[in-house]
Amino acid sequence: IRERKRKEGVNLLELAASYFRERLKMPEAQVAREYLSNRGLSSEVLADFGIGYAPDGWEGLKRHLAERGIPESVQVEYGLLVHREESGRTYDRFRDRVMFPIRDVRGRTIAFGGRVLGDAKPKYLNSPETPVFHKGRELYGLYEARQANARLERLLIVEGYMDVVALAQFGIRNAVATLGTATSEEHLARLFRVVDEVVFCFDGDRAGRQAAARALETVLPLMIDGRQARFLFLPEGEDPDSLVRREGCEAFTDRITCASPLSEFLFDQAARGRDLARIEDRERYASQVLGVIGKLPEGVLRTLLLGELSRRTGVDESRFTALMDRAEPKTT
Ligand code: ATP
Ligand code: MN
Ligand code: MN
Ligand code: MN
Repeated sequence: IRERKRKEGVNLLELAASYFRERLKMPEAQVAREYLSNRGLSSEVLADFGIGYAPDGWEGLKRHLAERGIPESVQVEYGLLVHREESGRTYDRFRDRVMFPIRDVRGRTIAFGGRVLGDAKPKYLNSPETPVFHKGRELYGLYEARQANARLERLLIVEGYMDVVALAQFGIRNAVATLGTATSEEHLARLFRVVDEVVFCFDGDRAGRQAAARALETVLPLMIDGRQARFLFLPEGEDPDSLVRREGCEAFTDRITCASPLSEFLFDQAARGRDLARIEDRERYASQVLGVIGKLPEGVLRTLLLGELSRRTGVDESRFTALMDRAEPKTT
């Protein structure tokens, strides 16, 4: 039954995706086409990502699917229709929006993100949780990145749909985005099954920097030997989309090459706002770094970082090891 259910959902979502793609070619989508072309997207990239348009109006998709025999209850279940309890009415969830299909690893559409053409709120609207869509788990662009690269060396983690698509437009075809949620361990585990290196590349604003700090915490337990995590910080006010459009592919690629390795980010972050000539500041600095190191799995990286902390603070490494052993008794 579950497999049949999945098939039913995927078929329905595939029908909706092709409906949205077709609508983007219609006269009514003139403004949407201009919007996308103003954002620098070519028809090739639009096709690669299956980008479409949900027309203005309350029942375009509902009628389209009903004509193909899909009951309203199923359309509601998969998040395409909204059902209002009070009035009992149902209507299209996505109206007058650019539509980004969210695909699973096999390329099947499992949900949508829709962006308004102007400044209306909410800017992005996602499908709700459905039998086939769990947003804390999925990564936008992973399927497309794997399609575009015979061998992937690294994946870039960015914040938004537009970042993924704009980077692809500029030939950087290895970005993925979480769907408006924080990067979870599950996201990262999924990426590390595909590549050994991830590069976090969040927006150059407060929220982006906080996301990077949280991403550091999340990635630590996954840092087994041979894996790499790096952090790319963008200039204030920029996101990958705006920056790649301003600077072009080469400059952006250079930034990726120069992104801070985890070790560097970790020491920099602990040093921020502290005067390491003062003992109290050095104490907090060392405690913070130790706390981070303690979350790493045993391995070469952990050993090297302890050595580095000892060099930077002038404290014998064995003292730190002793402190750490006391802080978290081994359970193995
Ligand atoms: P754009 O460049 O189109 O304005 P953006 O990707 O730069 O969009 P941000 O505000 O930086 O937009 O948000 C990053 C991501 O967070 C979005 O791509 C989207 O996935 C998610 N997001 C933003 N606003 C909302 C919202 N109101 N509801 C749900 N998700 C949102
Ligand atoms: Mn932002
Ligand atoms: Mn952004
Ligand atoms: Mn943006």
